[in-house]
Amino acid sequence: MRAFTIPKAAGKDGFAWRGASGFPPFLRRGGYRSASAAGQGAARIAAGLAGLPAGAVPRMHLAKGSYFACTGRAAFDRLIYPVPEPGGLGIHLTLDLQGGMRFGPDVEWTDSPDLRVDPAKAPAFEAAISRYWPGLPRGALVPAFAGLRPKLVGAAEPNADFRIDTQADHGIEGLVQLFGIESPGLTASLALAEGGAMR
Ligand SMILES: Cc1cc2nc3c(=O)[nH]c(=O)nc-3n(C[C@H](O)[C@H](O)[C@H](O)COP(=O)(O)OP(=O)(O)OC[C@H]3O[C@@H](n4cnc5c(N)ncnc54)[C@H](O)[C@@H]3O)c2cc1C
Repeated sequence: MRAFTIPKAAGKDGFAWRGASGFPPFLRRGGYRSASAAGQGAARIAAGLAGLPAGAVPRMHLAKGSYFACTGRAAFDRLIYPVPEPGGLGIHLTLDLQGGMRFGPDVEWTDSPDLRVDPAKAPAFEAAISRYWPGLPRGALVPAFAGLRPKLVGAAEPNADFRIDTQADHGIEGLVQLFGIESPGLTASLALAEGGAMR
């Protein structure tokens, strides 16, 4: 497989494929396969592809996940995962490369790309963490960072699997599209690449 970047065009969405008639020939030459793996942007890119049937563009939902760091010395030397909650793995403990403790992510359904962590969430995090670490010092949590999960289903629906669309799904030769690659997408990345390449 060969990775490349398509330069942004001057179009409204800055995307070179928009308005092209059919899949760009230069991507077909040489038997290349082209993978669209744009996370939150995947559906928008699909919607901008000429020749793709409307049914091949999924509706995407966003579930924000916030993290808090815990000040002070690390109390654990391993990860701690509670029982998963709907939409996410539960507020678990991960250790950063310096051994610092980070707790998260929670699940907040949203339409906004705002990645700020709301400090007012600290009490809810304390309550969740205290269930497996009763010794959590009060006031030790500080907002860290957040991410947005690109979800194929909304809040009230059961979890969906990753979606790998190929010619059989959308009719365009050589095009692989990945949708809903949320957690554990990093862990599964090699298998996803293999799955996309083998189909
Ligand atoms: C809060 C949270 C916690 C997570 N925890 C874990 C975990 O513990 N373990 C795990 O395995 N996974 C985890 N994940 C999931 C993991 O981060 C994703 O599965 C992984 O990042 C998906 O990789 P990707 O390359 O498909 O998409 P992304 O990493 O989202 O990359 C997509 C890229 O496409 C670009 N792009 C988007 N639109 C356009 C466009 N129109 N034009 C050009 N470029 C575009 C974006 O800028 C971005 O660089 C977590 C995700 C979140 C949000």
